[in-house]
Order: sequence, then C-alpha cells, then structure tokens
Amino acid sequence: MTTHSMHAPLLLTPGPLVTSARTKNAMLHDWGSWDGDFNALTRRVGERLLAIIDGQSDYVCVPLQGSGTFAVEAAIGSLLPPAGKLLVLSNGAYGKRMAQLTATMGRRVETADFGETAPVDPAVLRQRLEDDPEISHVGVIHCETSTGILNPIEAIARMVAAAGRKLIIDSMSGFGALPLSSKTVPFEAVIGSSNKCLEGVPGMGFVLVRREALEQAAGRSHSLSLDLYEQWRYMQKTGQWRYTPPTHVVAAFDAALAQYEEEGGGPARLARYSNNCATLIAALQAIGLRSFLPAQIQAPIIVTVHAPRHPAWNFGEFYARVKAHGVLLYPGKLTAVDTFRVGCIGAIDAADIARGVDAIARVLAEMGIRE
Ligand SMILES: *Cc1c(COP(=O)(O)O)cnc(C)c1O
Repeated sequence: MTTHSMHAPLLLTPGPLVTSARTKNAMLHDWGSWDGDFNALTRRVGERLLAIIDGQSDYVCVPLQGSGTFAVEAAIGSLLPPAGKLLVLSNGAYGKRMAQLTATMGRRVETADFGETAPVDPAVLRQRLEDDPEISHVGVIHCETSTGILNPIEAIARMVAAAGRKLIIDSMSGFGALPLSSKTVPFEAVIGSSNKCLEGVPGMGFVLVRREALEQAAGRSHSLSLDLYEQWRYMQKTGQWRYTPPTHVVAAFDAALAQYEEEGGGPARLARYSNNCATLIAALQAIGLRSFLPAQIQAPIIVTVHAPRHPAWNFGEFYARVKAHGVLLYPGKLTAVDTFRVGCIGAIDAADIARGVDAIARVLAEMGIRE
C-alpha cells in the first residue's frame, strides 16, 4: 500500500489513522453547504454506507457532525423512549462510556459488566432480559477498542431479537471491516464514524437506523443539536445538513468510500487488516513481546501488548522514542495490567506494520530492554 508519504508519521492507532493521498487530496476543494453538488455528495455517502449493511430498503443513514461519541449520544437520546430502559453489555471503556452518556441524559440504564478481558456472554444477557422485562433496548460494542476484544455480535443480536428487545450496536472501530449485514443480524441501529475502518478523516459519525424506529423518534431527544430525528427530517426536506456540515470531511469520506469499494469492500478490508494483525502479533513475538488477548477473541483492529517486564520500561519514554522513528503508538487502557496498544487499521499494509515493529525493536535496544 504505502500510498502515504514515507516521511509522514505512521499512525498505528485506531483512528485518526493513516489516510491515502487520494483521501487527503479530496479536501482541497471548498464546498457550499447549501449547494446541490454538496447535497449529492452527502446523499452518495449515505447510500454507500447503507450498502455496507445491505440496508438500502429498511434502514436510513443519518450523518452527524462531531466525533463518534456524538453519534452514540444522538442515537441513544433519540431511539430510547423516555419510558424505556437500556441494558449496556460492557467489557471496556466504550461500554462504560455508553452507560455514562445514557445516565447523563437522565435515561434509565443498567450495565452487565463482563470485566475487561472477556467477551460478552450471551447466556448472561438472556438471564438479564428474562429477569427484567422493563429493559427495552440493549447496547453493545462490536469491537471493544480499549482492548481489541471482538464481541459475538450475531449471538447477541439473535438473543435480543428472540426476547423482543431492540439492539443498538456501537461498531465504531469495526464498521466496514467486521462483517455486519442487516439481512442476517437483527438490529435497530448501528453507529460508526468516518475515521476508523473506512479510512476517512475525523469529524463526522453516522447512524444507520431502521426507518420505522426513526419515524417513532420525534420529540424524544434531550438535545437540540444531537436530535437524530430532526437531523434526518431536515435532510429529507432540504437535502442539507441541519447545521454547518464538515464539508471537507464529507468530501474526504466519499473519496475514502470509493477506494473502499474499489479495494473489494468489507471482505478485502477484513483480509488486509487480518494480515496486518497476524503480521503484527508474529513480529512482536519475534522480539519477545506478547499480545494480551487469546487469538479467538482478538479482533483484527487493535492489539493490546504486554509491556516488557524490565526496570528500564517507561511508556512515556518508549512512546517518544518510537515517535522519533516516525511511528505513533497508543497507550494501554487496562486498569490492572501494564500494556500498550498497536493499531492494525488505516491505509497501511503488512510492510508498514513491519516498519512499525522494527522501530519498536530499535527503541527497546536503545532503552537497554533488549539486545
Ligand atoms: C472510537 C470509538 C468511539 C468514538 O470515539 P470518539 O473519540 O468520540 O470518536 C466509540 N466507540 C468505539 C468502540 C470506538 O472505538
């Protein structure tokens, strides 16, 4: 791949991430937010996103300004009725965040906590739904980015549907790479953003939501600007975003989605990331570093790595030295174990991953941690 400049930083992070030259170049044009050409661009992005979940007939795409969390907050504030109750299936920081933002907006929320190192257990979910008939919606993180755990989304979705409840999926870090078809996985809404597996730049999120569910969402939102229903209605009426759109971000996203389709869509993206991930884990192992998760629950998105057990280890120094080699890593997010993280996603391939691990190896030698 390496369509980016060799002198640009290599971001081995879960987003913002390395984008292609073509995606960056798409930002060199200025758009009028009311202009017909820009409206067509917005419409095309929505169609491209709906096609990824085979959702063209039953779902609508509502794009939203801001980072991914804004879109999660908008989805829950608009889809969860005031009398409803959300059960969040949590195994990391993003599950916690979903519960926190639901509580912040004054809605009823409960958490099923699976710790930080295990996937969601569908049997526990079934029991919680049986025990509490007031739970109307279930929220889950597809790939929990704080560790890289892949949650069993199909089993979860089937269980939620069998219990007659509604599922809201935060697939921010996996959307476009991890398979998710509305034809085989029943869900009410899925939330994603421009700057993760679809390899756009940051600045917008989107919610793909069952049309019927959104039609019932009028007047529910606690927030003016995060009202998904009003954003959708205004867009239907005018073709425009309700408030100032991130025009350059949308243009870059459209270019990124064109490249996604040319590469071969979800299967091709998953194959490239899986190869990145396997290359990464093997190369780290070869220099004495162990990944944290067992292979069967590791999503090919981001890898948590045990910090070396050595008196000279210091993440801050390690990070700065690796950066001096042109590579940006990510801190760990586990509470009890000393780790750091390396992303597998972005406009990068196995050669870039090898360059990243080479920088890590050199730095461990510089720090006296390895020969
Ligand atoms: C990135 C991410 C988000 C959104 O984070 P922002 O910093 O608001 O963009 C939400 N959920 C998951 C699982 C993520 O990986």
